[in-house]
Amino acid sequence: MKIAINGAGIAGPTLAYWLRKAGHEALLIEAAPQLRSGGYVIDFWGIGYDIAEKMGLLPHIKALGYQVRDIRFVDRHGRTSGGFSVDVFGRMTNGRFTSLQRSDLAATIYRALDGQVETIFGDSITGIADVGDCVQVSFEHAAPRAVDLVIGADGLHSRVRQLAFGPQAGFNVSLGYHVAAFAVEGYRPRAELVYVNHGVPGRQISRFSMRDDKTLFLFVFRDEYLPAASPASEQERKSVLAKVFADVGWECPQILAAMEHVSDIYFDRVSQIRMDRWTKGRTALIGDAAACASLLAGEGTGLAMAEAYVLAGELRDCGGDHTAAFARYQERMMPFLQRKQEAAAKFASSFVPKSAFGVTSRNLVTRLLRIPFLADFLIGRNLRDDIKLPDYRF
Ligand SMILES: Cc1cc2nc3c(=O)[nH]c(=O)nc-3n(C[C@H](O)[C@H](O)[C@H](O)COP(=O)(O)OP(=O)(O)OC[C@H]3O[C@@H](n4cnc5c(N)ncnc54)[C@H](O)[C@@H]3O)c2cc1C
Repeated sequence: MKIAINGAGIAGPTLAYWLRKAGHEALLIEAAPQLRSGGYVIDFWGIGYDIAEKMGLLPHIKALGYQVRDIRFVDRHGRTSGGFSVDVFGRMTNGRFTSLQRSDLAATIYRALDGQVETIFGDSITGIADVGDCVQVSFEHAAPRAVDLVIGADGLHSRVRQLAFGPQAGFNVSLGYHVAAFAVEGYRPRAELVYVNHGVPGRQISRFSMRDDKTLFLFVFRDEYLPAASPASEQERKSVLAKVFADVGWECPQILAAMEHVSDIYFDRVSQIRMDRWTKGRTALIGDAAACASLLAGEGTGLAMAEAYVLAGELRDCGGDHTAAFARYQERMMPFLQRKQEAAAKFASSFVPKSAFGVTSRNLVTRLLRIPFLADFLIGRNLRDDIKLPDYRF
């Protein structure tokens, strides 16, 4: 089959990889003019790690990864107020855990396609006309094409989802936070392999030192701190962050000053996408487009890869019967994704505590996590993926 996949992030290229193995012809369409670089750092483990292994990607992923040692909480004067060793993640996953830039993971997956999958950059699917035995797809720039299936792998704000299922508002569940991230070069101080966090009621800022003298900053704040509607321009985003984090102490004045020279700030509402079906006719959704669990799940990339792998596997096992394959894909993955979303939504209430008492209690709990058996008990259960993926014979 000819299968058009909108979005070349994590899910899209993973799907293209497995579809190619099954003998299908994939076409990737990516809105960005080239693969995105930079961006935030993700933790990578679980079923995503297993699939990366099946794809032969682990050596590259390990080389690009950071083996983080500690998560540290500091007060407004920079004094340690909590935190724990990240050994627990390694122990509970048998060492199958790393952190890397999301863009590095995406590029590693894309490279595994060996240049064999046609990719249209700087474009997007804009129309899907299901005409029975095929789909007429139109694009923002390219000429229309006829394909057998259309897959939306275009993330949280999926265009394909909007075209096939309706506006995002119908599926978006806000978790009550906004998140922003950017990287700067030459920032001091650095703390190698330590995730340094400073939290005050409702707001949290984290710093992570990366290679090439870069430092990543991640801001999370409760929605009630957003001064007005979501900012549209880069300058508005900067103004919002400058206002919301003006009085939080620690290195914030310096970080906000460094932000002024940055030209690519990630800024979004922390949301989940909840749907009761991911497929319609010849169109299906995968990854964040289908079931974004948010950064609070700490596993969105792995979940996206798992959905891609299972969709390709079911299409392979069902021969040309996409209806049966779509049904099996959804049946296998949806309950698992729903459990992941529920766990992330539960975590949301305590992620950035609302009050000073909450911040102090959170810091105390993180100190308790220095006791290995307690850490294993409290964190270990969140690291389990209660699903067994089929071993499709690609
Ligand atoms: C701050 C933050 C921290 C996170 N931390 C973690 C973590 O620790 N661990 C983890 O596993 N996950 C984490 N995640 C979640 C993870 O990044 C996502 O779940 C994952 O990237 C989803 O993959 P995807 O391929 O579905 O979507 P994406 O990675 O978002 O890729 C979608 C692609 O589609 C493209 N696109 C968008 N619109 C269009 C269009 N109209 N036409 C064509 N192309 C389009 C985009 O440019 C992009 O390349 C985090 C997310 C955030 C925001």
